[in-house]
Amino acid sequence: MSGAPLTFYLCHCASCQRQSGSAFGESLMFSCEDLTLDGTPQERWTVGGSGVPIRQVFCGTCGVRLTHQRKDSPVLVVKPGTLDDPSWLFPAAEIFTASRQPWLSPLPGVAQYSGSPDMERLKVDWARWLAGHEEAGR
Ligand SMILES: [Zn+2]
Repeated sequence: MSGAPLTFYLCHCASCQRQSGSAFGESLMFSCEDLTLDGTPQERWTVGGSGVPIRQVFCGTCGVRLTHQRKDSPVLVVKPGTLDDPSWLFPAAEIFTASRQPWLSPLPGVAQYSGSPDMERLKVDWARWLAGHEEAGR
């Protein structure tokens, strides 16, 4: 990574639940130019809920999903659980909360969106979280 993330959010959509095999997906967004993958990643194309082709990239060794990206998008999403140290991250938003599992509560102080907000909105939420994080001296 050569640049800072653009935003970090949790997604509760059915697709992310299925893909993660869990209750939600975690998405850490970067500009494509700020991320380089080495090793021998494998890719697979799928079609997202909006009908847009999505490129999924998996580790060639263990098969875990590393990134996904909408076709021709200047940004891509990293699965933050694949980072060496994801402990510094805290989500700035939760999206598709309308399909959140009923036993999960909203994270306090985190922006909530019943569907998919504009990406610019998620960047603002992230900037707000970063500012609070730095203010707290953590
Ligand atoms: Zn999703």
